[in-house]
Amino acid sequence: MFLFDNAISMPARIVGMIEADVPIVHLDRTIFHPTTGSQRADRGCIGSAQVLAVAFDGGEISHYVNSSNGLEVGAEITLQLDQDWRHLQSAYHSAGHLIASAMRQIDQRCTVLFGQHYPDQAALTLHSANQIKEGHIKELNDLLQHFIEQNLIVDIGLESGTRYVRFGGLEAIPCNGTHVDTTGELEKIDVIRHEYDGERLRLYYVTYNRT
Ligand SMILES: [Zn+2]
Repeated sequence: MFLFDNAISMPARIVGMIEADVPIVHLDRTIFHPTTGSQRADRGCIGSAQVLAVAFDGGEISHYVNSSNGLEVGAEITLQLDQDWRHLQSAYHSAGHLIASAMRQIDQRCTVLFGQHYPDQAALTLHSANQIKEGHIKELNDLLQHFIEQNLIVDIGLESGTRYVRFGGLEAIPCNGTHVDTTGELEKIDVIRHEYDGERLRLYYVTYNRT
């Protein structure tokens, strides 16, 4: 469900539970995005239980909760995301896409290797044979500001069974993460530092939601 929807609350049915020190809940559908190498998991509640972690385990999404009190298989319960936390993850994840697009306008041959869109340690790693300079970072940040001012609409869809995301007229990128609805939700994206390891370029960044 999280794949196409930015809903923050939804009813769901419990289809499985594993009792443990940290109980695990399986649902017939979910709005909780699991943790990935590039994005932190959602936080929130299943009924009155607090969701501590969300993981994609063996083809299904496991919700690790603080207590199984009041939860039982077959029950209809309400899922509630921590909205501020979700917005922050979506902002950082979306900023990563925009930095990649802006970088390709500066160095057309660069390619993204991976992104870690964690709010406290966000960085995008690219292969970039052309050594970019401080002047390029200024150009990059100006382009990012331009993307924000254009208030690009974020389009999510399926192409040949693969989920993609597209920011305005920028290129479509295969992605399963969560995103802002428009780039105007972001106040600012700042690439604050860059470092090279051979031809591997790492760009450290911060972003802020418009409040
Ligand atoms: Zn994405």
